Amino acid sequence: MWRQKQVPMDITGCALRSAFLLLFMGLVVMASSGPSGTAAQPLATGTATRLLATLPSCTHSTYEVTQLPPEEKSELAPCVIANIKPEPSENTTVIPLVHVTPISCGVGRDGALTSVKLLNAGHGVPIGFAKDHFVKFHLVSVIAGDARADGYHEQHEYILRGLVEELQAPYIVGSCSFVASVEKPVAGDLEAIYMAQVGPPSFYLPSNSNPFVFGIHINSDTYPLANVQALDFWAAKKNPARDIPIRVMYREQSEFFRSTCQSAIRALQKSGFTNIETMKFDPLEDDNGDGIVNELDAITLGEIADKACPPDHPPNFHPALFVCTRTEQDVMFERWRQNRCRPTSIWLTAATWTWAARNPELLPYLHGGGQWHPALDYGDENFASGKELLQHTYQEYGYNGTYDQVVSYVVPYLYAKHLQNAYKVTTHPNPLEDFATAEGRERLRRDMMVLTADTIFGKVAFDQNQRNVGRGAAGTQWLPFEKGEFSGGRRKKEPAFNNQSDAVLANALVSPLLQAEASIVLPSPSAEECVQGSFLNHTALKTQSSILLSACELCPFDTYITRDNNVAGFCSPCPVGSTTKGRKGQTECIPNEEFNYISQGLLVVGYTLFGTITFVCLVMAIWLWSHQTSVLVRISQPQLLVLVIFGCWISSLSIVFLGVQAEVASDMVNAACMATPWLYGVGFAVAYGPLLAKLLRIMLVSRAGRKKQMGKSARSQRAVGLKEVSGLVGIILIIQLAILTAWQLDSPIQWTREVIEEVDGFATESVGRCESDHQNAYFGALVGFQLLCLLGALVLSYQTRHIHSDFAESGCISLAVAFTFEVVLLTAPTFVLARENNNVSYIVRVGAVFVQNFVVLLLLFVPKMIRVRESMKSPSTRGPNFSSESTYLPLASITGSKWDEATDILNRMLDENSNDLPQEQREDLQKVKHVLLSGDREKKQNKLMHLPGGLARFSLTTARFSVKKQSNMFLLQEYGGIDVTRRSVSSEIEAMEEPAGGSSSGVYLLPEFEALASQAIKTRVSIMLSWHALKRWDFNVFDLCHLTDGNPLLFVGWAVLGSPHSQYAMARACGEDVDLDSFEGYNFSDSDLKIPLHTLCDYLRVIQDDYISANPYHNETHAADVVQSLHALLQMSGEELHASKLEIFSILLAAVVHDVQHPGSSNAFQANARTDLALIYNDNSILENKHVSHAFVKMFDTKTNLNILRKVDRSKVAKIRNKVIKAVLHTDMSLHFKTVSEIKGDMMEEDYLSDEETRWDVLMYILHMADISGQAKPRPLSILWTDRVMDEFFVQGDKEKQLGLPISPNCNRHTTLKADSQIGFVKFVILPAYEVLGGIIPQVKERVVPIVADNLEYWVHQRKLESPDIEESTV
Ligand SMILES: [Zn+2]
Repeated sequence: MWRQKQVPMDITGCALRSAFLLLFMGLVVMASSGPSGTAAQPLATGTATRLLATLPSCTHSTYEVTQLPPEEKSELAPCVIANIKPEPSENTTVIPLVHVTPISCGVGRDGALTSVKLLNAGHGVPIGFAKDHFVKFHLVSVIAGDARADGYHEQHEYILRGLVEELQAPYIVGSCSFVASVEKPVAGDLEAIYMAQVGPPSFYLPSNSNPFVFGIHINSDTYPLANVQALDFWAAKKNPARDIPIRVMYREQSEFFRSTCQSAIRALQKSGFTNIETMKFDPLEDDNGDGIVNELDAITLGEIADKACPPDHPPNFHPALFVCTRTEQDVMFERWRQNRCRPTSIWLTAATWTWAARNPELLPYLHGGGQWHPALDYGDENFASGKELLQHTYQEYGYNGTYDQVVSYVVPYLYAKHLQNAYKVTTHPNPLEDFATAEGRERLRRDMMVLTADTIFGKVAFDQNQRNVGRGAAGTQWLPFEKGEFSGGRRKKEPAFNNQSDAVLANALVSPLLQAEASIVLPSPSAEECVQGSFLNHTALKTQSSILLSACELCPFDTYITRDNNVAGFCSPCPVGSTTKGRKGQTECIPNEEFNYISQGLLVVGYTLFGTITFVCLVMAIWLWSHQTSVLVRISQPQLLVLVIFGCWISSLSIVFLGVQAEVASDMVNAACMATPWLYGVGFAVAYGPLLAKLLRIMLVSRAGRKKQMGKSARSQRAVGLKEVSGLVGIILIIQLAILTAWQLDSPIQWTREVIEEVDGFATESVGRCESDHQNAYFGALVGFQLLCLLGALVLSYQTRHIHSDFAESGCISLAVAFTFEVVLLTAPTFVLARENNNVSYIVRVGAVFVQNFVVLLLLFVPKMIRVRESMKSPSTRGPNFSSESTYLPLASITGSKWDEATDILNRMLDENSNDLPQEQREDLQKVKHVLLSGDREKKQNKLMHLPGGLARFSLTTARFSVKKQSNMFLLQEYGGIDVTRRSVSSEIEAMEEPAGGSSSGVYLLPEFEALASQAIKTRVSIMLSWHALKRWDFNVFDLCHLTDGNPLLFVGWAVLGSPHSQYAMARACGEDVDLDSFEGYNFSDSDLKIPLHTLCDYLRVIQDDYISANPYHNETHAADVVQSLHALLQMSGEELHASKLEIFSILLAAVVHDVQHPGSSNAFQANARTDLALIYNDNSILENKHVSHAFVKMFDTKTNLNILRKVDRSKVAKIRNKVIKAVLHTDMSLHFKTVSEIKGDMMEEDYLSDEETRWDVLMYILHMADISGQAKPRPLSILWTDRVMDEFFVQGDKEKQLGLPISPNCNRHTTLKADSQIGFVKFVILPAYEVLGGIIPQVKERVVPIVADNLEYWVHQRKLESPDIEESTV
């Protein structure tokens, strides 16, 4: 490539250079002692040996030389700028390189220096098969002088030839293109390989003219082809006629310029372009004779420019210009600018990178040879890219390198590649030897012909003319344009376009196809870089000249600049939904602000939900109103229900305000914001206050029920009323209102809009929401308090959890409360989390409010509605045929003012259904009626309350709406303690609730006592069962049996085991104003046994039932008698037994059950008859086993609630059970004598009662004694017992006879004499045993033994009456 920068020649410089040259030639001639004297004559080989030594070293560096003023430069004598000679070493061949350059070759020579230094580094360049031989280069680089001086060519050739000969150099490093023709013959003559930097084809033709000449540049004829191609593509689309004016102007003198433009013309013609005009000029001639050579003559050049694009050209005249010149183009450009010319394209030979860099104002028109550029990303082993090489140059030499430097760098590099290639299969390479012979040189030359190497400016390979074809057409070095970016070269690296020039170059390197897309190819006005935000006004371009015209304008409002591939900018309207915010010249539009409103769909959902709630509230309210007379509704306290409905609706109303939104705040919107918490808070208080109150009341009622049992007045129950709970609603409301008011006063919620995204300070996205400074605190307080309330409600629910009921509202309430609790707890954090998204936030809040209120309403009302609906259905098929509602009503409110109504209903039930009712039920109903009709109101209440369980149950179950235990619970919960239900409810509560302390098992009045026929009887019974009377040995259990309608065991058991509570309850029931503390008793219910009295009675009732009443002797009366007798004996013993409460209880319990299910026949009978029992118990204490087994089967039956020991520790239960079993088994008469002797033995021990086992033996003995106490009782009683036991014996005897079994002793009614049997029994069994007992319990000795003795006397006397002849002694 030739150098663009040329110093304009002037006369003085010319003269000086000539003088210097003459002087130099003289020197050279003298030094060489050559005969000739002509500088141009080549020196003989021998004479050249001293040439290198005669040349001085340069005093300036390459860069300094380029910076010299022209006159100094021209006077510079030839000098050696570099003589790099490495020391020879083993296996290293030093190959000389010669490089001769004119001064004007600029910095290009330094590239060769760089290359050689790098190649010589280390061992040098490895060659040969094993790469164990190396080559280093001896580079001699000489600046030969000013190429403009006369005779320079000769001088250049002389020095080159001399050095090649002197050094025997096989390689010449080519100099600048304009001296290539000088160097070419030297290479040919001396057969030195020569790499020329020349582009025109003729230099290489014919190929055989210079076999050692190689060309590193590609064919310069190919340079304009890319532009031609672009025009071709463009014309195919936009001007198919191809009559576009094409103007070609070139320097005629230079083959390079001429051939380049002619190549363009040939290509244009071939593409069918017709309107081509050629303007050529000789740069060194003076066509107009003004004394200035054409290349410098602005007038001549201006005329040429005018011809190409005249000043008066028509508006649609857009020629394509091809300019193959040097600096002349600068003048012509100025003219075209004046002419306001607007060409379709301009192609410039001189549009090299260097030129462009020096003429920044013409950069938009850079399009030409398409030379190597640092941005093109080639590399070699030393440098990753040309750019790195240039950086290296900067560090090494202190200046920015150029393209020429890269080219000269590549030449030694190629020589090294050549050597490596030539010797790659040689074991002992010796290049110098080869270069010394003609054959060797020819072989090496041929190797050079086939060399292919990647270099820092691309691939180098040679065609048949030994010219580089590696890169193809220079103009095709465009960069692929992908996705708006220019991609890199082969490394796909982003090219480093880091300044404006680079960016423009990128335009020039765009492929022809892409260029053709533009309306004007190149140089296109579109190449003009409009500043950001401005666009190229195409309309202006049509009327104005465009060369360097600044047609950039700012894009108007609401348009923005966009660019096509070819950099043409134009304004596009902003897309819908965006704007420039009133600014001109924007590069992008700012999207309209996204307000993030809640979507319409969601709002509709929200309103629908509110509508649903409103509808549900209305339905509920109407239902309430229409069913206001229904008991179910009335007992549910409709006032509270109305409040719940109203509260839920108010709370739900906040949904409406949640949907309020606006672009900016206003009073209305702010008010709506604040309305939400107000409605929610107030709604909560109104809705949940009643719910809480209901729960609270249930708890209070349940407590009151217990208090009642503890003897507190019924008044305390009545106090749990609406007033009491309405206070709670008020408190909740006041606290909620206080929080809300504080909020309102402190920092009311305002509508605020927060910018989420912005562009240039303009909001593009924002979220509007209700916010206040301390909203988290206030919201937290509001919700926190609500949670507290709900938590309290849950605690209340928990405390009343044992109150089960089919109907119970508390379950629903607690469910609703728990649900609400959950909703509030779950959604509260969601409010914070979903803040950014209004839609999510809205639907979460709306959903929470809706679900909360909806669920509460449903849970509260639906069960009720279903109940009422069911109750109104036709009567049950199971029950009698009357309206459940009408029946239920009076019964449920029987303690109210509806006694008469209730009675009326009962009458109707009895009258209308008398035929359908079973006899038993009829009787029960009559009892109820009797109670209702008798006595004053208060007594009636009591009576009704204490109706026997079965009766109460029955009379109510006859109605469809049965007042079972559960319904009682329901009534209790709903109405807060209706008296009619109190009894069963109280017992239920006691049964189900664990008492808080040991003394809370409470007072329990046996219902059967209450049911006693008259107050007189009650009084008698209560007297009989007083603690004092119970201790009596002459206690008349038969009387009691009679007075208690055949419930002796139940009463005695209750009186003894339930003492002192039973005595206290009876006293109160008889109207005595007494205190529990004044009563004596065992206090089993208050001891750590915590025997629940009602369960005890239930158990007694069952056990009593299981005694076989038909037995003359072994029936419930006997059991009651044994219990009482045992009690009496125990009391006689006082504290002497040292028995524990557990032991006393165990032995009494054993007494209760000791004969249960006794069949009325003895163990012997069982064994003889082989009854099932005998088989089960293997004939061992058969009946006793059965009794005690049955007792525990009943007690531990999980299907019933009879476990009186359920509050006793497990270990103690085992203990009690063990003791009871032992004791009952011990009542087996067959063990009697053994027992008596054992007890006697025990009594020998001192302090025998302190041993637990012995003590238990004694207690069992006492029980046994109570069991056989019939003959120890005062006469009337003992006779009665004797009759009964004899009756039972005879029945057994009858059976034995019937079964053919041996008749047991005393069982044959025909042979047995009563007195006889008794005498023996008393004399040998009872008396001695009681005497032993008397040894333990002194009172027995004093009070009982005499009676036994008396009885014995009586029987002896009786026997005498029956059969006086029989001697006493014979019995
Ligand atoms: Zn018995």
